[in-house]
Amino acid sequence: MSQDFSFHLKKSQGPAGPRLGKITTARGVIETPVFMPVGTYATVKTLTPEDLQEIGAAIILSNIYHLYLRPGVETIQALGGLHRFMHWDGPILTDSGGYQIFSLAPFRTITDAGVTFRSHLDGSSHFLTPETVVGLQEALGVDIMICLDECPGYPAPEAEVRRAAALTLNWAARSQAARSRPNAALFPVVQGGMDPDLRREQAQAMAALDFDGYAIGGLSVGEPKDLMLAMVEATTPALPEDKPRYLMGVGTPEDLVEAVARGVDMFDCVLPTRNARNGMAFTSTGKVVIKNAVHGADAGPLDAACGCYTCRHYSRAYLRHLYVAREILAYRLLTLHNLYYYLQLMVTMRQAVAENRFAAFRRDFYQNRPQGGNNRG
Ligand SMILES: [Zn+2]
Repeated sequence: MSQDFSFHLKKSQGPAGPRLGKITTARGVIETPVFMPVGTYATVKTLTPEDLQEIGAAIILSNIYHLYLRPGVETIQALGGLHRFMHWDGPILTDSGGYQIFSLAPFRTITDAGVTFRSHLDGSSHFLTPETVVGLQEALGVDIMICLDECPGYPAPEAEVRRAAALTLNWAARSQAARSRPNAALFPVVQGGMDPDLRREQAQAMAALDFDGYAIGGLSVGEPKDLMLAMVEATTPALPEDKPRYLMGVGTPEDLVEAVARGVDMFDCVLPTRNARNGMAFTSTGKVVIKNAVHGADAGPLDAACGCYTCRHYSRAYLRHLYVAREILAYRLLTLHNLYYYLQLMVTMRQAVAENRFAAFRRDFYQNRPQGGNNRG
Protein backbone atom coordinates (compact mmCIF):
# COMPACT_ATOMS: atom_id res chain seq x y z
CA MET A 1 0.00 0.00 0.00
CA SER A 2 1.18 3.49 -0.79
CA GLN A 3 1.82 5.87 2.10
CA ASP A 4 0.94 8.96 0.06
CA PHE A 5 -2.24 7.67 -1.54
CA SER A 6 -5.67 7.39 0.02
CA PHE A 7 -9.27 7.14 -1.09
CA HIS A 8 -12.19 8.49 0.90
CA LEU A 9 -15.62 7.28 -0.19
CA LYS A 10 -17.91 10.23 0.54
CA LYS A 11 -21.12 8.75 -0.77
CA SER A 12 -22.26 5.50 -2.35
CA GLN A 13 -25.56 4.22 -3.66
CA GLY A 14 -24.94 0.52 -3.10
CA PRO A 15 -22.10 -1.79 -4.19
CA ALA A 16 -22.71 -1.19 -7.94
CA GLY A 17 -24.30 2.26 -7.90
CA PRO A 18 -22.90 5.78 -8.44
CA ARG A 19 -20.28 6.94 -5.93
CA LEU A 20 -18.64 10.15 -4.82
CA GLY A 21 -15.09 10.02 -3.53
CA LYS A 22 -11.80 11.81 -3.02
CA ILE A 23 -8.33 10.50 -3.85
CA THR A 24 -5.47 12.16 -2.03
CA THR A 25 -1.95 11.96 -3.48
CA ALA A 26 1.27 13.79 -2.59
CA ARG A 27 0.73 15.94 -5.71
CA GLY A 28 -2.91 16.86 -5.21
CA VAL A 29 -6.47 15.88 -4.51
CA ILE A 30 -8.68 14.21 -7.12
CA GLU A 31 -12.45 14.38 -6.75
CA THR A 32 -14.14 11.27 -8.18
CA PRO A 33 -15.73 10.25 -10.49
CA VAL A 34 -12.88 11.74 -12.55
CA PHE A 35 -11.86 11.83 -16.21
CA MET A 36 -8.10 11.74 -16.91
CA PRO A 37 -6.96 13.44 -20.15
CA VAL A 38 -4.57 11.21 -22.09
CA GLY A 39 -0.99 12.37 -22.61
CA THR A 40 0.41 9.29 -24.31
CA TYR A 41 3.79 10.79 -25.22
CA ALA A 42 4.08 12.96 -22.09
CA THR A 43 1.89 15.62 -23.65
CA VAL A 44 -1.86 16.06 -24.00
CA LYS A 45 -1.65 16.91 -27.68
CA THR A 46 -1.87 20.66 -28.49
CA LEU A 47 -2.29 21.76 -24.83
CA THR A 48 0.08 23.07 -22.17
CA PRO A 49 -0.16 22.01 -18.51
CA GLU A 50 -1.55 25.50 -17.76
CA ASP A 51 -4.37 24.87 -20.25
CA LEU A 52 -5.14 21.61 -18.47
CA GLN A 53 -5.20 23.27 -15.06
CA GLU A 54 -7.44 26.01 -16.43
CA ILE A 55 -10.08 23.51 -17.58
CA GLY A 56 -9.92 21.63 -14.28
CA ALA A 57 -7.90 18.49 -15.06
CA ALA A 58 -6.90 16.98 -11.70
CA ILE A 59 -4.80 14.11 -13.03
CA ILE A 60 -3.48 13.06 -16.43
CA LEU A 61 -2.51 9.72 -17.91
CA SER A 62 0.66 8.78 -19.73
CA ASN A 63 1.93 5.52 -21.13
CA ILE A 64 4.96 3.50 -20.13
CA TYR A 65 5.11 1.57 -23.42
CA HIS A 66 5.54 4.72 -25.48
CA LEU A 67 7.87 6.53 -23.05
CA TYR A 68 10.00 3.41 -22.62
CA LEU A 69 10.52 3.22 -26.39
CA ARG A 70 10.93 6.99 -26.89
CA PRO A 71 12.71 8.93 -25.40
CA GLY A 72 13.49 6.15 -22.88
CA VAL A 73 12.84 5.97 -19.15
CA GLU A 74 16.50 6.56 -18.25
CA THR A 75 16.50 9.81 -20.21
CA ILE A 76 13.40 11.07 -18.39
CA GLN A 77 14.80 9.95 -15.03
CA ALA A 78 18.06 11.80 -15.69
CA LEU A 79 16.02 14.94 -16.47
CA GLY A 80 14.31 14.84 -13.09
CA GLY A 81 11.39 12.47 -13.64
CA LEU A 82 8.22 12.64 -15.71
CA HIS A 83 6.57 15.56 -13.87
CA ARG A 84 9.56 17.82 -14.33
CA PHE A 85 10.20 16.58 -17.87
CA MET A 86 6.71 17.58 -19.03
CA HIS A 87 6.19 20.50 -16.58
CA TRP A 88 3.05 19.01 -15.00
CA ASP A 89 3.11 18.96 -11.22
CA GLY A 90 -0.27 17.33 -10.64
CA PRO A 91 -0.80 13.58 -10.27
CA ILE A 92 0.10 11.28 -13.17
CA LEU A 93 -1.12 7.74 -13.79
CA THR A 94 0.84 5.58 -16.20
CA ASP A 95 -0.64 2.64 -18.02
CA SER A 96 1.61 -0.42 -17.84
CA GLY A 97 1.83 -0.90 -21.58
CA GLY A 98 0.08 -4.29 -21.52
CA TYR A 99 -2.65 -3.11 -23.89
CA GLN A 100 -0.18 -1.35 -26.22
CA ILE A 101 2.12 -4.37 -26.43
CA PHE A 102 -0.83 -6.51 -27.47
CA SER A 103 -2.35 -3.99 -29.85
CA LEU A 104 0.66 -2.17 -31.38
CA ALA A 105 3.74 -4.38 -31.28
CA PRO A 106 4.04 -6.37 -34.52
CA PHE A 107 5.46 -9.48 -32.80
CA ARG A 108 5.25 -10.64 -29.21
CA THR A 109 5.84 -13.82 -27.26
CA ILE A 110 4.28 -14.29 -23.86
CA THR A 111 5.66 -16.62 -21.23
CA ASP A 112 4.98 -16.78 -17.50
CA ALA A 113 8.17 -14.77 -17.04
CA GLY A 114 7.08 -11.80 -19.17
CA VAL A 115 6.60 -10.59 -22.71
CA THR A 116 9.07 -10.25 -25.55
CA PHE A 117 8.01 -7.84 -28.27
CA ARG A 118 9.32 -5.81 -31.18
CA SER A 119 9.02 -2.03 -31.15
CA HIS A 120 6.45 -0.68 -33.60
CA LEU A 121 8.90 2.22 -34.19
CA ASP A 122 12.15 0.54 -35.22
CA GLY A 123 11.64 -3.22 -34.88
CA SER A 124 14.07 -3.51 -31.93
CA SER A 125 13.44 -6.41 -29.54
CA HIS A 126 12.46 -5.88 -25.89
CA PHE A 127 11.66 -8.07 -22.89
CA LEU A 128 9.47 -6.74 -20.08
CA THR A 129 8.39 -8.50 -16.90
CA PRO A 130 5.83 -7.44 -14.28
CA GLU A 131 8.79 -6.51 -12.06
CA THR A 132 10.60 -4.37 -14.64
CA VAL A 133 7.35 -2.55 -15.52
CA VAL A 134 6.89 -1.54 -11.84
CA GLY A 135 10.55 -0.47 -11.78
CA LEU A 136 10.10 1.68 -14.92
CA GLN A 137 7.05 3.45 -13.49
CA GLU A 138 8.85 4.03 -10.18
CA ALA A 139 11.80 5.47 -12.12
CA LEU A 140 9.46 7.94 -13.86
CA GLY A 141 8.18 8.98 -10.43
CA VAL A 142 4.47 8.67 -11.27
CA ASP A 143 1.71 8.76 -8.67
CA ILE A 144 -0.38 5.79 -9.81
CA MET A 145 1.18 2.74 -11.47
CA ILE A 146 -0.61 -0.06 -13.31
CA CYS A 147 0.48 -3.72 -13.23
CA LEU A 148 1.49 -5.39 -16.48
CA ASP A 149 -1.46 -7.39 -17.81
CA GLU A 150 -2.41 -9.45 -20.82
CA CYS A 151 -5.39 -8.08 -22.68
CA PRO A 152 -7.03 -10.72 -24.91
CA GLY A 153 -8.69 -9.51 -28.10
CA TYR A 154 -12.39 -9.72 -28.86
CA PRO A 155 -13.76 -12.19 -29.57
CA ALA A 156 -11.31 -14.68 -28.03
CA PRO A 157 -11.66 -18.40 -27.27
CA GLU A 158 -12.65 -19.16 -23.67
CA ALA A 159 -9.43 -21.06 -22.93
CA GLU A 160 -7.40 -18.09 -24.14
CA VAL A 161 -9.37 -15.64 -21.96
CA ARG A 162 -8.93 -17.91 -18.90
CA ARG A 163 -5.19 -18.32 -19.49
CA ALA A 164 -4.69 -14.53 -19.92
CA ALA A 165 -6.71 -13.81 -16.77
CA ALA A 166 -4.71 -16.32 -14.71
CA LEU A 167 -1.43 -14.89 -16.01
CA THR A 168 -2.59 -11.32 -15.28
CA LEU A 169 -3.46 -12.34 -11.71
CA ASN A 170 -0.06 -13.98 -11.24
CA TRP A 171 1.67 -10.90 -12.68
CA ALA A 172 -0.35 -8.64 -10.33
CA ALA A 173 0.91 -10.55 -7.27
CA ARG A 174 4.48 -10.29 -8.59
CA SER A 175 4.06 -6.56 -9.30
CA GLN A 176 2.87 -6.01 -5.74
CA ALA A 177 5.95 -7.82 -4.39
CA ALA A 178 8.29 -5.85 -6.68
CA ARG A 179 7.42 -2.38 -5.29
CA SER A 180 10.31 -0.46 -3.82
CA ARG A 181 8.90 3.09 -3.48
CA PRO A 182 6.24 3.55 -0.83
CA ASN A 183 4.84 6.76 -2.31
CA ALA A 184 3.44 5.48 -5.61
CA ALA A 185 0.07 3.70 -5.69
CA LEU A 186 -0.35 0.48 -7.65
CA PHE A 187 -3.51 -0.83 -9.35
CA PRO A 188 -3.85 -4.32 -10.89
CA VAL A 189 -5.99 -4.88 -14.00
CA VAL A 190 -9.07 -7.07 -13.73
CA GLN A 191 -9.38 -9.09 -16.94
CA GLY A 192 -11.78 -11.95 -17.71
CA GLY A 193 -13.03 -11.24 -21.24
CA MET A 194 -16.80 -11.22 -21.64
CA ASP A 195 -17.43 -13.87 -18.96
CA PRO A 196 -19.20 -12.30 -15.94
CA ASP A 197 -18.31 -15.20 -13.61
CA LEU A 198 -14.63 -15.02 -14.55
CA ARG A 199 -14.68 -11.22 -14.14
CA ARG A 200 -16.18 -11.60 -10.63
CA GLU A 201 -13.67 -14.31 -9.72
CA GLN A 202 -10.74 -12.19 -10.96
CA ALA A 203 -11.98 -9.10 -9.11
CA GLN A 204 -12.25 -11.05 -5.84
CA ALA A 205 -8.80 -12.61 -6.28
CA MET A 206 -7.25 -9.20 -7.05
CA ALA A 207 -9.07 -7.67 -4.05
CA ALA A 208 -7.50 -10.30 -1.78
CA LEU A 209 -4.06 -8.97 -2.78
CA ASP A 210 -4.94 -5.60 -1.22
CA PHE A 211 -4.00 -2.96 -3.80
CA ASP A 212 -4.46 0.83 -3.61
CA GLY A 213 -7.14 0.71 -6.32
CA TYR A 214 -8.35 -1.51 -9.14
CA ALA A 215 -8.41 -1.11 -12.91
CA ILE A 216 -10.98 -2.84 -15.11
CA GLY A 217 -9.34 -3.72 -18.42
CA GLY A 218 -10.03 -5.62 -21.62
CA LEU A 219 -13.22 -3.68 -22.36
CA SER A 220 -14.12 -1.34 -25.22
CA VAL A 221 -12.13 -3.68 -27.50
CA GLY A 222 -14.88 -4.04 -30.11
CA GLU A 223 -17.66 -5.69 -28.09
CA PRO A 224 -21.23 -4.32 -28.11
CA LYS A 225 -21.91 -1.59 -25.53
CA ASP A 226 -24.43 -3.65 -23.60
CA LEU A 227 -21.87 -6.42 -23.15
CA MET A 228 -19.24 -3.91 -21.97
CA LEU A 229 -21.65 -2.49 -19.38
CA ALA A 230 -22.68 -5.99 -18.26
CA MET A 231 -18.98 -6.74 -17.59
CA VAL A 232 -18.60 -3.52 -15.57
CA GLU A 233 -21.71 -4.48 -13.62
CA ALA A 234 -20.28 -7.93 -12.88
CA THR A 235 -16.95 -6.48 -11.72
CA THR A 236 -17.66 -3.45 -9.53
CA PRO A 237 -19.62 -5.22 -6.74
CA ALA A 238 -16.78 -7.74 -6.38
CA LEU A 239 -14.21 -4.98 -5.73
CA PRO A 240 -13.58 -3.43 -2.30
CA GLU A 241 -15.94 -0.53 -1.68
CA ASP A 242 -13.24 1.63 -0.09
CA LYS A 243 -10.86 1.60 -3.08
CA PRO A 244 -11.11 3.50 -6.38
CA ARG A 245 -12.17 1.67 -9.54
CA TYR A 246 -10.73 2.72 -12.88
CA LEU A 247 -12.32 1.68 -16.18
CA MET A 248 -9.52 1.75 -18.75
CA GLY A 249 -9.93 3.35 -22.17
CA VAL A 250 -13.67 4.10 -21.93
CA GLY A 251 -15.28 5.99 -23.61
CA THR A 252 -18.01 8.21 -25.07
CA PRO A 253 -19.94 10.66 -22.86
CA GLU A 254 -22.77 8.08 -22.77
CA ASP A 255 -20.31 5.38 -21.66
CA LEU A 256 -19.07 7.59 -18.81
CA VAL A 257 -22.61 8.22 -17.58
CA GLU A 258 -23.48 4.51 -17.72
CA ALA A 259 -20.24 3.40 -16.03
CA VAL A 260 -20.59 5.98 -13.25
CA ALA A 261 -24.12 4.62 -12.77
CA ARG A 262 -22.48 1.22 -12.21
CA GLY A 263 -19.93 2.34 -9.62
CA VAL A 264 -16.83 3.37 -11.62
CA ASP A 265 -14.66 6.22 -10.23
CA MET A 266 -11.93 6.87 -12.82
CA PHE A 267 -11.78 7.06 -16.62
CA ASP A 268 -9.37 7.79 -19.44
CA CYS A 269 -10.00 7.82 -23.16
CA VAL A 270 -8.41 9.27 -26.30
CA LEU A 271 -11.82 10.13 -27.80
CA PRO A 272 -12.10 13.80 -26.75
CA THR A 273 -8.54 14.61 -27.84
CA ARG A 274 -8.32 12.37 -30.93
CA ASN A 275 -11.77 13.32 -32.22
CA ALA A 276 -10.95 17.00 -31.75
CA ARG A 277 -8.04 16.59 -34.16
CA ASN A 278 -10.44 14.88 -36.58
CA GLY A 279 -12.83 17.83 -36.41
CA MET A 280 -15.45 16.25 -34.15
CA ALA A 281 -16.78 18.06 -31.10
CA PHE A 282 -18.77 16.57 -28.23
CA THR A 283 -21.54 18.93 -27.15
CA SER A 284 -24.49 18.94 -24.78
CA THR A 285 -26.76 18.29 -27.76
CA GLY A 286 -24.67 15.56 -29.40
CA LYS A 287 -21.76 15.40 -31.84
CA VAL A 288 -20.77 18.25 -34.18
CA VAL A 289 -18.70 17.58 -37.32
CA ILE A 290 -17.11 20.98 -37.80
CA LYS A 291 -16.11 20.59 -41.48
CA ASN A 292 -19.76 20.26 -42.53
CA ALA A 293 -20.87 23.10 -44.80
CA VAL A 294 -23.84 23.84 -42.55
CA HIS A 295 -21.44 25.54 -40.09
CA GLY A 296 -19.88 27.79 -42.77
CA ALA A 297 -21.89 30.91 -41.87
CA ASP A 298 -22.89 29.99 -38.32
CA ALA A 299 -22.02 32.82 -35.93
CA GLY A 300 -22.98 30.75 -32.88
CA PRO A 301 -20.59 28.82 -30.60
CA LEU A 302 -19.91 25.09 -30.81
CA ASP A 303 -22.11 24.54 -27.76
CA ALA A 304 -24.35 27.31 -26.39
CA ALA A 305 -24.32 25.56 -22.99
CA CYS A 306 -20.50 25.46 -22.79
CA GLY A 307 -18.33 27.96 -20.90
CA CYS A 308 -14.96 26.94 -22.36
CA TYR A 309 -12.48 29.37 -23.91
CA THR A 310 -13.35 28.19 -27.43
CA CYS A 311 -17.10 28.60 -26.98
CA ARG A 312 -16.71 31.99 -25.30
CA HIS A 313 -14.68 33.49 -28.14
CA TYR A 314 -15.15 31.69 -31.46
CA SER A 315 -17.97 30.93 -33.87
CA ARG A 316 -18.65 27.62 -35.57
CA ALA A 317 -17.94 29.42 -38.86
CA TYR A 318 -14.43 30.42 -37.71
CA LEU A 319 -13.67 26.96 -36.32
CA ARG A 320 -14.83 25.40 -39.60
CA HIS A 321 -12.63 27.81 -41.56
CA LEU A 322 -9.57 26.93 -39.41
CA TYR A 323 -10.26 23.21 -39.73
CA VAL A 324 -10.79 23.27 -43.50
CA ALA A 325 -7.63 25.39 -43.91
CA ARG A 326 -5.77 22.86 -41.70
CA GLU A 327 -4.69 25.57 -39.31
CA ILE A 328 -3.08 24.17 -36.14
CA LEU A 329 -5.27 26.39 -33.98
CA ALA A 330 -8.32 24.34 -35.03
CA TYR A 331 -6.94 21.24 -33.29
CA ARG A 332 -6.08 23.19 -30.18
CA LEU A 333 -9.43 24.97 -29.86
CA LEU A 334 -11.41 21.78 -30.48
CA THR A 335 -9.24 19.83 -28.00
CA LEU A 336 -9.79 22.52 -25.36
CA HIS A 337 -13.54 22.35 -25.89
CA ASN A 338 -13.81 18.54 -25.93
CA LEU A 339 -11.77 18.11 -22.76
CA TYR A 340 -13.68 20.90 -21.05
CA TYR A 341 -16.91 19.16 -22.04
CA TYR A 342 -15.72 15.83 -20.58
CA LEU A 343 -14.43 17.43 -17.38
CA GLN A 344 -17.64 19.43 -16.91
CA LEU A 345 -19.68 16.27 -17.46
CA MET A 346 -17.79 14.73 -14.51
CA VAL A 347 -18.40 17.87 -12.39
CA THR A 348 -22.12 17.62 -13.19
CA MET A 349 -22.19 13.93 -12.30
CA ARG A 350 -20.36 14.54 -9.01
CA GLN A 351 -22.91 17.22 -8.11
CA ALA A 352 -25.77 14.90 -9.01
CA VAL A 353 -24.41 12.10 -6.80
CA ALA A 354 -23.74 14.58 -3.96
CA GLU A 355 -27.32 15.80 -4.15
CA ASN A 356 -28.86 12.32 -4.48
CA ARG A 357 -30.31 13.03 -7.93
CA PHE A 358 -28.18 10.93 -10.27
CA ALA A 359 -31.21 9.17 -11.80
CA ALA A 360 -32.75 12.55 -12.71
CA PHE A 361 -29.42 13.77 -14.12
CA ARG A 362 -29.20 10.64 -16.29
CA ARG A 363 -32.71 11.20 -17.70
CA ASP A 364 -31.95 14.85 -18.52
CA PHE A 365 -28.62 13.90 -20.10
CA TYR A 366 -30.36 11.69 -22.67
CA GLN A 367 -33.28 14.06 -23.19
CA ASN A 368 -30.93 16.84 -24.33
CA ARG A 369 -29.47 14.68 -27.07
CA PRO A 370 -31.08 14.89 -30.52
CA GLN A 371 -31.22 11.10 -30.94
CA GLY A 372 -33.75 11.17 -28.10
CA GLY A 373 -31.82 8.38 -26.43
CA ASN A 374 -28.35 7.04 -25.91
CA ASN A 375 -26.21 5.47 -28.60
CA ARG A 376 -25.74 2.17 -26.83
CA GLY A 377 -25.86 -1.08 -28.72
ZN1 LIG B 1 -16.83 24.73 -25.39
